[in-house]
Amino acid sequence: MTARILVVDDIPANVKLLQARLSAEYFEVVTAMNGQDALEICERTKIDVVLLDVMMPGMDGFQVCHRLKNNPATAEIPVVMVTALDQTADRVKGLRAGADDFLTKPVNDLQLVTRVKSLVRLKTLTDELRLRASTTKAIGLDAPAATPARELPPAVLIVDDRTASGERLAGMLRGHADVEVVADPNAAVFRAVDRVFDCVIVSGALGAADPLRVCSQLRALERTRFLPVILVADPGDNERIIRALDLGVNDYIVRPVDADELAARVATQVKRKRFNDELRKNVTDTIELAVTDALTGLHNRRYLDNHLQTLFDRAVARRKPLSVLIADIDRFKAVNDAHGHDAGDDVLREFARRLRGAVRGMDLACRLGGEEFIVAMPDTEAGIAEKVAERIRAQTAGSPFRIAGQSRALDVTVSVGVATLSFAGDGVAALMKRADQALYEAKKAAAATRWSSKRLEQCFRTNQESLDFQHDLTECAGRIALAASAIAGVGLQVAP
Ligand SMILES: [Mg+2]
Repeated sequence: MTARILVVDDIPANVKLLQARLSAEYFEVVTAMNGQDALEICERTKIDVVLLDVMMPGMDGFQVCHRLKNNPATAEIPVVMVTALDQTADRVKGLRAGADDFLTKPVNDLQLVTRVKSLVRLKTLTDELRLRASTTKAIGLDAPAATPARELPPAVLIVDDRTASGERLAGMLRGHADVEVVADPNAAVFRAVDRVFDCVIVSGALGAADPLRVCSQLRALERTRFLPVILVADPGDNERIIRALDLGVNDYIVRPVDADELAARVATQVKRKRFNDELRKNVTDTIELAVTDALTGLHNRRYLDNHLQTLFDRAVARRKPLSVLIADIDRFKAVNDAHGHDAGDDVLREFARRLRGAVRGMDLACRLGGEEFIVAMPDTEAGIAEKVAERIRAQTAGSPFRIAGQSRALDVTVSVGVATLSFAGDGVAALMKRADQALYEAKKAAAATRWSSKRLEQCFRTNQESLDFQHDLTECAGRIALAASAIAGVGLQVAP
């Protein structure tokens, strides 16, 4: 994950320290020594997260935060306030100024990196949804502007099998939230699916179950996929915290839990969830008919044609990766021929359902037409795109497809070609062409696995139009054939 982080502190040594730690995690770091410079940088350049010192001469951190949050151009940038130890009043004041998170000096490495990563992840999703909303406008559909969600108290589920601890956490949130405590972890997962919650708090000290299992179940289920999860960890439980964040847990808080901090963390998660829900709903409502494929419910080609160029331009401007994959159901004509078009439609619908389950929230899945599908993956490098492709392939081949009115389910396989934006002078058409070529190779090498991305890039760079190009591709294909063995039956190709 790469992102541009602005570090604001009036003491050069503090700036240097944070800069070094963030750079070590491959974040791009921009610095400012005072509030005025920080505001200007946020207006002028694209900043993904601001780390803001509270105590600064002139404009202090609260004022800077307030101004950032009240300027539409910068309001969506997550702000992390860096406060002195035990300054509870500062946290409350920061929250009022619109801060999204807090870090306490001296800044703990794990907290710094995980909080920043978690905010970057949320920001990526929010940016993506905003962009989609603007695409619906670009293709002539009037998307209603995102309206702030009604300020209902958030519904919070606490999963804790120790009565006293659960009640203590609930007590801290009553007054801010509609709180429900469930002691049995399995029952809690069912409850989270049944009722609409805005946030789940999972105790890291469940006696009967692995708390991370609860978190991963919440992430895996369709209904709770976007539901914010906060883990309550014990001090020093860094390994578990890291694993939880890897699983997609949104935030964590360390015992002994500070009531203000808990309220602030819940409020931040709820705010973002509501904002994203609203955007998602607006986008869904508006574009549903015009840009949705009626059979599968996925986006259609019309939407893709508009949106892919936008994603591409943004990726180039921000120097971020962008991957696309084209998935094509194998021998689909044979399904239609042998079982009729209704059966073919069932296969397409079921494939779309599995495809939707295999992609991530920020990915864009479309049906190109026929049995061909495309997934555009912003901020995604080839290695990750390949994993998504593999998940799609595995979920397709994993179990047979049921067909209405037929007793025997059909075995369906899919071939996938992947391409990633990778060099100067690349374009949407070239990217699609590479994905298509990779798909072709995947089809051809029925049991292929990997492809030397450097090799293919070379082919395209040097021999795009020449006869040698064909020759080179054949050579590349030969390499695939050599490499082919790991995945039987279906091809998976990765092109740059
Ligand atoms: Mg200071």
